[in-house]
Amino acid sequence: MVASTGFLRGNDIFSNALDGKANPPRLYGRKWDKTAKRHLWANPWCVFCLRRGIRTLATVCDHIVPHRGDPKLFWDSQNNWQGLCASCHNSVKQRQEKSGKVSGCDKDGWPLDPNHHWRTDDKENKD
Ligand SMILES: [Zn+2]
Repeated sequence: MVASTGFLRGNDIFSNALDGKANPPRLYGRKWDKTAKRHLWANPWCVFCLRRGIRTLATVCDHIVPHRGDPKLFWDSQNNWQGLCASCHNSVKQRQEKSGKVSGCDKDGWPLDPNHHWRTDDKENKD
C-alpha cells in the first residue's frame, strides 16, 4: 500500500499513449465478443486446467502469444487462441507473461512449460 501512490503516475500513462504513434486499430469490440464466445463454445474447457487433469469451464478467450495490437496475432483463432478459466487467466497466465515460463505440472507430474529442460532434453540438437 505504501508505494501505490508513486506507482501509478498519470503522466506516464499519457506519455505512453501519446508517444507519437497513431492510435492502434481498435481490436476488442462487438466482433471480438462474438468470435471469442463462439471459440469458447467450441472449446469449452480451460486449457491450463485440462493439462492438470481438471475440467473447468473456460470463460476467457486468451491470446497464447500476446498480440500487442497486432491484428494478425489478435485474430489468429486457429493458432493463437485458448480458453482459460478466470483463475488461470489471472494467475498462471500473468506469471507466465512476466517470467516467460509456464508454472505447474500436468497430471503426470511433467512440467507444463514446453521449454522446461525435462521436456527439451530429448531434442539433442542443443549447443
Ligand atoms: Zn483454469
